[in-house]
Amino acid sequence: MLISACANPRPVADRSAGIAVYVLGRAQDGGLPHLGCEREACCAAARRSGRIETPACLGIHDEASGALWLIEATPAIEAQVARLHSLTGTSARGRRPIDGVLVTHAHLGHYLGLAWLGREVAATSALPLFVSERFAEYLRTNGPWRQLVELGQVEPRPFAPGGRFTLRDGLEVEAIAVPHRDEFSDTVAFKLRGPTRTVLFCPDVDAWDRHDGLLERLLDDVDVAYLDATFYDGRELPERVRAEIPHPPMVDTMTRLAAFAASHPGAIRFIHLNHTNPAWNDAALRVSIEARGFSIAEPGERVRL
Ligand SMILES: [Zn+2]
Ligand SMILES: [Zn+2]
Repeated sequence: MLISACANPRPVADRSAGIAVYVLGRAQDGGLPHLGCEREACCAAARRSGRIETPACLGIHDEASGALWLIEATPAIEAQVARLHSLTGTSARGRRPIDGVLVTHAHLGHYLGLAWLGREVAATSALPLFVSERFAEYLRTNGPWRQLVELGQVEPRPFAPGGRFTLRDGLEVEAIAVPHRDEFSDTVAFKLRGPTRTVLFCPDVDAWDRHDGLLERLLDDVDVAYLDATFYDGRELPERVRAEIPHPPMVDTMTRLAAFAASHPGAIRFIHLNHTNPAWNDAALRVSIEARGFSIAEPGERVRL
């Protein structure tokens, strides 16, 4: 089985162990409930019930060494790292709660958590930070991020768009450039190639068509793909902006990938849902999405690489 819900922590230093990827959050940058939203259908009801959905984030666990990496440093970094520790049976890490961070782009839900690595909170030491060259330059030249670099709390390991790097033997990451609103950094998707499986993480993209063959390139050789599901079909946006949805709606992605999902049920897993996305709460909609072979990512789910 490719995906499993993982309630039971695993031993850390298991010799037969491999590499696992965990979902630690699945909301758009602002999470759910969303500051400034009082709609009953999404955020008012969530506030009343205490429901919290944190921004899209994955954790990677190298079971042989116990090493942990985060993909995205979200504003919920403390809760997400705690969840990763609990899911992997990790304890006693102190001020090195993780061994590195990979970040797709400089939008608040994806990188503000880096601030928690600084002197006011974890004060990490030389934590490897895998970001694009442009993103690394932005961090080095703008406060408050510059201080993290100057104090040696993070150590940028810049990659070129399209570049590949290795996290450990047998775990290669490919950074694929995707079109997005790139004010401070460019934006990438990460393809994680482990010993037996490959997982794609593409939480934010403006359109599948702007780069030739992008969707095919992203999905090439991939066993499980976490894809941008910010909006369902545009009904969740005000009329005036509906014509310019800045993300491919789920309905469009499902049409494009209908054949792939039918032959690989559960392999396409939606992530980065905006607080207004009806797929959060509409049970009938969920059933219809799953009947077509697609899934919504579940916090805590695990994919073995
Ligand atoms: Zn985002
Ligand atoms: Zn973004």
